[in-house]
Amino acid sequence: MTTVRDYIRTIADFPHEGIMFRDVTTLFADPRGFRMAIDQLLHPYAGTRFDTVVGLEARGFILGGAVAHQLSAGFVPVRKKGKLPGAVISESYTLEYGEAVVEVHDDAITPGDRILLVDDLLATGGTAEAGIRLMERLGAEIIGCAFIIDLPDLGGRTRLEALGMDVHALCS
Ligand code: 5GP
Repeated sequence: MTTVRDYIRTIADFPHEGIMFRDVTTLFADPRGFRMAIDQLLHPYAGTRFDTVVGLEARGFILGGAVAHQLSAGFVPVRKKGKLPGAVISESYTLEYGEAVVEVHDDAITPGDRILLVDDLLATGGTAEAGIRLMERLGAEIIGCAFIIDLPDLGGRTRLEALGMDVHALCS
C-alpha cells in the first residue's frame, strides 16, 4: 500500500552541502498523496472542536488552508519578519547560523481560541516553539501540533512535549 512517506522525495545537499532535504512538493502535487496527508493529519482530532488553524510559513500555509477548510475553522498565518501588513507581535529563535523572527497579527486570535498548529516538518522545534510562544501570548489554547514529518534525532518532539504540547506526525 502506498503511504504518505512514499510521496516524499529526498534531495541531497540542499540548501547546503551535507543536508538531506525532505521535499514535500511531490506529496502536495499528487492528488491521492495530498488528500491522504490532510486526512491523516486530522485523524487524531476527529470529534475535536477547533476555532483556528495556525500555519507556519511557508509549507504550513498549504497544509493549514486545507486542514482549516476540512475543520470549518479559520486560518491564521505565522509569517517571517516584515511580511504582515498590520500590527504584529514577534518572537525570535535561534537557527544553526544566527537568528530568525516570526510574526503574527496582534488581533489574529481571540483569547481562549482553540488552535491547531500545522507545519510540514519538525526538526529542532525552534520554528514551532516560536509559533507556540506567539499563540500563548495571544491567549490561545493550543490543542495540538501536527506535522507531516518528524526528524526525531533533532529533538523537536521532545522539546515541544516538554512545553506540554500534544505532537502528531505522519512519518519520521
Ligand atoms: P526547526 O525549526 O524545527 O529546526 O525546522 C523546521 C522548519 O524548517 C520548518 O518550517 C520546515 O519547513 C523547515 N525545514 C527544515 N528542514 C526541512 C526539510 O528537510 N524539508 C522541509 N520540507 N522543510 C524543512
